[in-house]
Amino acid sequence: MKILSVNAGSSSLKFQMYEMPEEKVLISGVFERIGIGNSFYTIKINGEKIRKEKDLNNHKEAVEYLVQELLENKIIESLDEIKGIGHRVVQGADKFDKSVIIDDEVIEIITELNPLAPLHNPAAVVGINAFKELIPNAIAVAVFDTSFHQTMEKEAYMYALPYEWYEDYKVRKYGAHGTSHKYVANRAQEILGKENCKLIVCHIGNGASITAVKDGKCIDTSMGFTPNAGLVMGTRCGDTDVSIIPYMMKQAGLTYQQIDDVINKQSGLLGISGVSSDSRDIEAGIKEGNERCILAQNMFVRRIVEYIAKYYVLLNGVDAICFTAGIGENGINVRKEILDRLGVLGIEIDEEKNDVRGVERLITKETSKVPCYIIPTDEEVMIARDTYKLIEG
Ligand code: AMP
Repeated sequence: MKILSVNAGSSSLKFQMYEMPEEKVLISGVFERIGIGNSFYTIKINGEKIRKEKDLNNHKEAVEYLVQELLENKIIESLDEIKGIGHRVVQGADKFDKSVIIDDEVIEIITELNPLAPLHNPAAVVGINAFKELIPNAIAVAVFDTSFHQTMEKEAYMYALPYEWYEDYKVRKYGAHGTSHKYVANRAQEILGKENCKLIVCHIGNGASITAVKDGKCIDTSMGFTPNAGLVMGTRCGDTDVSIIPYMMKQAGLTYQQIDDVINKQSGLLGISGVSSDSRDIEAGIKEGNERCILAQNMFVRRIVEYIAKYYVLLNGVDAICFTAGIGENGINVRKEILDRLGVLGIEIDEEKNDVRGVERLITKETSKVPCYIIPTDEEVMIARDTYKLIEG
């Protein structure tokens, strides 16, 4: 059965087509700069990457090119072969604790949640509608970034703010990266050979979050009402004294829009280093002795260690710690610095095993009290799996 896994952003559209249930990737690609000029797309097929410059005025035009590529490359002979399309949706709030088949009511609820994800949810609906128009016979499924976190208890997801904010404005912790955390947790369960286990999953990329997982269920996560909570990220500040916001609005005369921009786009590694949001540039700066890059890296690592320590206590011990996403999978130094600081938990890194990028591997010594793993994430396959499962009933 052919299933498309789709991730629509405001100006981009990523896709991957699978033969299910074998989980074989048939073609993948990304359309970029949709509606903002200089648009192009890249596709990967049989190990070959092809780039094409095309005018893409909207998502529908991107889907038209996608259909054309699928037919020309003989991935499909007719559109009816595509049985399902799984769409990544960032915010499902407390309305969805699992993936669902999309109907008009689902679209309505996703749209109602727009204020909670003003950039992402509208883009997902644009993507859903574009595919619905061009491939109407495929069953569309919504896979939410938040649904894995819906198992958190109230004491974990509430903020110590007026209760009415929760009741009237839905202010609570929702988390994010749920599909990735779930994939890594499932994979760790397979590696450990048991379902009942305690895991700390560190998704560390440009956006970063850590989740405490017990028996396959999320019990806490570092992202919050928005993705700007918890860890220091590429450009987001993460946990910060919230009273700094009104203080700086008043002192520096910043508007709501400006302060929102600062905390989301000008903070984190970029804000501290003044150099870059990219971990590789920070490490290059460290090599040159740049003090602010050193400080940025230390703050970044320290916050991750603080969350691991917090979740270690919350879980009352842990069976494994897992690293994933851009930095988690590739950041050899970052992983080493994190694990060195966790020596008090009896964690012993194996530097030789850790000297690797992007492969699944144990990176601690046999004698380490807690085994730590790199587990490359795969959100696309999770979307395809949920879509397949819902179609099969
Ligand atoms: P993501 O958001 O998951 O794509 O991750 C982006 C982050 O991963 C950036 O900070 C990159 O610097 C980092 N990253 C990607 N590849 C590497 C690499 N080979 N070594 C170190 N960091 C990397």
